[in-house]
Amino acid sequence: MVTTPKLKPGVVSGKDYLTLVKSCKDGGYALPAVNIVGTNSINAVLEAAAKNSADVIIQLSNGGAAFYAGAGAPDSFQAKVLGAVSAAKHVHMMAELYGVCVILHTDHANKKLIPWVEAMLDHGEQYYKETGKPLFSSHMVDLSEEDIDFNLSESARLLKRMVAIDMSIEIELGVTGGEEDGVGSDEIDNDKLYTQPEDCLRAYELLSPIGHFSLAASFGNVHGVYKPGNVKLRPEILKHSQALVSQRHNTADNPLDLVFHGGSGSEKEKIDESLGYGVFKMNIDTDTQFAFAEGVGKFAFANQKAFLHQIDPDTGEPYKKLYDPRKWLRKGEETMIARLDEAFADLKSAGKSIALKKAGQIAAE
Ligand SMILES: [Zn+2]
Repeated sequence: MVTTPKLKPGVVSGKDYLTLVKSCKDGGYALPAVNIVGTNSINAVLEAAAKNSADVIIQLSNGGAAFYAGAGAPDSFQAKVLGAVSAAKHVHMMAELYGVCVILHTDHANKKLIPWVEAMLDHGEQYYKETGKPLFSSHMVDLSEEDIDFNLSESARLLKRMVAIDMSIEIELGVTGGEEDGVGSDEIDNDKLYTQPEDCLRAYELLSPIGHFSLAASFGNVHGVYKPGNVKLRPEILKHSQALVSQRHNTADNPLDLVFHGGSGSEKEKIDESLGYGVFKMNIDTDTQFAFAEGVGKFAFANQKAFLHQIDPDTGEPYKKLYDPRKWLRKGEETMIARLDEAFADLKSAGKSIALKKAGQIAAE
């Protein structure tokens, strides 16, 4: 029986981050990594995690970060950077309030977006100087469209910088199909949708001596939700990569810390299978986007007049109680939370939080 040390609630990084990843893998569960675009979605994720006694991963895409700064904010590059920094500070403050452990992460950054990552690291280094903690637990650098030599050497360069402030990197080998934030791949050959175990071995050999990395390996996963039949998930690809590294380097089982991209709409049995192969993080975006929209949409549909008239034109009834944004944004939060209940159950992370409980929480049990 392994006993996992408990962690202080809040954003985890460095050694605590490794403790949380290990707890997931040893416990055969994974954390949903939810893409957020504002405080409503961040708070919904935190509420869902607290409700499920689960730890969670909050992440921003570059587009999400820009939106966080405001869709009309001047200078889109600075907006992407400052939106990410602002969201991170919100999460640092609120994660402690909700009493769960949170991994804070940024999503896909291709070659063009490396300056975005480096600018976030400038802010991260400053934050580290002031607080002894990084702003983010990890950043993803996705150079899977480039040749593998560049992918790995550039990832190594950035990891060196991250390690100095207790951060980890996520890289990608092989291509995730579908489209996210307009970064898409309509026509890619099928081979590229499946990561080669030899490439995983190379990544392990180059990066693990520098610091911690996690790996998004492609096993037929696709961003977005499409008609059934388009996705052929082959989790055994993950198993083969783990086996090759562990054999070559004489490690324990599942030496790689794997990330499942494109979790929305995936078959439950494939999700379950991937948990056995060292997946500790599953990205979910499309399904939680739809969940938020569904809650708002149903409410607006049921109360159409309140979204068109401040006062009912026939009866004179005031609609303030219905069009107050707190009313309908909350509906979106509630349906997003309900979708996350399902994700925590699918990933077996409900009830597994390793956050130290506050005195009141212990007394309540
Ligand atoms: Zn992805």
